[in-house]
Amino acid sequence: MKLAVCLLALLFIVVEPRTIEAAQRRPPVQRASGPAYIRLTDWARSRNFELRWLKKDETLQLTRQSARLSFTVDSNDADINGVGVRLLFPIAVRDGVPCVSQLDSQTTLDPILSPPRSRRSASVTRICLDPGHGGRDSGNRVGSHLEKTYTLMLAQELATQLTRAGYKVTLTRDTDKFIELSDRAEIARRRSADLFISLHFNSAPNSASTVRGAEVYCMTPVGAPSTNARGEGSSAGWYPGNRSNEKNVLLAYQLQKSLAKNLATEDRGLHRARFAVLRDATTPAVLIEAGFMSNPSEGRKIFDAGYRRQIAKSIVDGIGAYRQATEQKRS
Ligand SMILES: [Zn+2]
Repeated sequence: MKLAVCLLALLFIVVEPRTIEAAQRRPPVQRASGPAYIRLTDWARSRNFELRWLKKDETLQLTRQSARLSFTVDSNDADINGVGVRLLFPIAVRDGVPCVSQLDSQTTLDPILSPPRSRRSASVTRICLDPGHGGRDSGNRVGSHLEKTYTLMLAQELATQLTRAGYKVTLTRDTDKFIELSDRAEIARRRSADLFISLHFNSAPNSASTVRGAEVYCMTPVGAPSTNARGEGSSAGWYPGNRSNEKNVLLAYQLQKSLAKNLATEDRGLHRARFAVLRDATTPAVLIEAGFMSNPSEGRKIFDAGYRRQIAKSIVDGIGAYRQATEQKRS
């Protein structure tokens, strides 16, 4: 079962899977109750992938030069070039044919595999870092360690490294002060940021102290359920954050890839959530849960400046990969 991320206050909404409004440029090949699905065989052929079952009706793999995707029937968990990605809807088999939701095709797979290009004038130069929590909102607490302290220290280290790499950096807070969730994206907008990155550390209950790893969230597309649907509200409608659906998922993917590759921890994958800071964002935006304070071993590392430097370096590399993908010509 998915553990709650660090802050229920950050959560907003989500709904049942329902008909999808945003995704209908092409008519769906198949439609049952629930989301529209398309044949994965057609999808693969049109994108030059070879599809084969690793285990009939259970696991399948799609390969082409320099790309490999793995899917499991009835599961949302996918693997894209070695990176964990949580699909919006599970892979299904209809009449013996594997199918993927049309919304995943358009807002998960295609943006990652064929990155959206930016106009030169839209390139990434200014980055807004958002250290989670602050002031009267401590975030997670493990012993005397407060999440708000470590998100700020990580943000300051990351700001140093990004500045050294040539970016302009702005922080939603650089002291221990409280900022409303609703103000954080607004601060990024006012300061003309090109990217918004919210930084957090996770926690699990005592009974799950072995849980560890990094995960990255981006905004849930219209009509889809979030990973953390439990206990959320009632609207899967449109928010400003949906303007950047394609870039959101590409940024989240590149960051998850870099964190999973560079930190010796578990790859918990890319997820979707309608967190307030992602919902209101007017630029591509992600929320990073960089590790579990509640895991004794990972917690010790998070409280150590050397490890936070590694986290920061991984984020710098992920932003670099995103920038390269969006600014290069589509092949
Ligand atoms: Zn948090």
